Amino acid sequence: MVEDLRLRDPKLAKRIAEKIKQLASREPLIKICHVCGTHEWAITHYGLRSLLPENVEIIPGPGCPVCIVPASEIDEAVQLALDGAVVTCFGDVLRVPGSGMSLLDAKARGADVRVVYSVADAVKMAEGEPGRQFVFFAIGFETTAPSTAVEVFKGPPRNLSFLVSHRLIPPAMRLLVEMRELSLNGFIAPGHVSTVIGLKPYQIFPREYGMPTVIAGFEPLDILFGIYMILKQLRDGEPRLENEYVRAVRPEGNLKALSLMSEVFDVEDGRWRGLGVISASALKLRKEYENYDSRLRLGVKIEHGVDVRPGCRCHLVLIGRIKPPDCPLFMKACTPQSPVGPCMVSSEGTCRIWARAGVRADI
Ligand code: SF4
Ligand code: SF4
Repeated sequence: MVEDLRLRDPKLAKRIAEKIKQLASREPLIKICHVCGTHEWAITHYGLRSLLPENVEIIPGPGCPVCIVPASEIDEAVQLALDGAVVTCFGDVLRVPGSGMSLLDAKARGADVRVVYSVADAVKMAEGEPGRQFVFFAIGFETTAPSTAVEVFKGPPRNLSFLVSHRLIPPAMRLLVEMRELSLNGFIAPGHVSTVIGLKPYQIFPREYGMPTVIAGFEPLDILFGIYMILKQLRDGEPRLENEYVRAVRPEGNLKALSLMSEVFDVEDGRWRGLGVISASALKLRKEYENYDSRLRLGVKIEHGVDVRPGCRCHLVLIGRIKPPDCPLFMKACTPQSPVGPCMVSSEGTCRIWARAGVRADI
């Protein structure tokens, strides 16, 4: 707690901001990308962008695990619910639009869709009603995939299967670096994901792409310090992988979580909403566990969905090409009460974070 308060100290924040200004004064436009909904929340909530010089821009990448679930996989969950399975999911997923319907729309039509706080809740529910088929809609990055893996490994009840939609962050970061038009100068790597995967998967960014990469925590000073570390690397012309979040991230990550994930899942190519297919970025149940795969057990597989609705710019927000107020629907047709795109649905979605912070459409 004391540490947390120190990491929010406004005087220290101003001092780091001053150092950032000094370093940035020698540089042209610097674009730093983060890939974490909680980072975006902290940056917006604490007004960190206003502390930075004009030539340092922080752009959010596809760091919200709800925003990037492709419409086709929402459609699969909707189909399973309409076909009579009990679909369990995290609350944020409920309102994410599919090609035609969200899970909330399906619920309004009488389907049994239930919000759970963890996969363990879904297990309990399935145990309590052995006569019904339950599905757990497993979304999220490396942070939530281990808890899905634990339940699969333990041997879930026979009437529970998994609609697995987990995605991996480093392949998405790779896609961003390879989009030359984004011209990124550095990465702030996500804190929670890094507690699981450790440092190794990020080494490729400084090594192969010359991209300064710093793992940062979620307090304002963590993020400012992360930006400062990136600027120092740029000044020195020595791109490195650095870990600012040493109090939580071990270099090797969480070995137990990693071994459970590789026991239960194989890596495959995966679609990200609005971004297309990213190679080796998704998880699927390995052969030994495929009787728990809802797609196989309950016979649902939807290949094509409508990821981008007319007028929606979420796909551009997801890669930091535009800011939420640049979308013509922002806080007009699309609001937190009545979201058009996924970025306005989830509490980790950039549009919703900006809307909640009161960023107006006219700035
Ligand atoms: S899962 Fe954790 S690390 Fe990933 S985006 Fe969400 S808060 Fe950030
Ligand atoms: S304002 Fe709505 S439609 Fe526009 S990008 Fe954001 S979520 Fe998508």
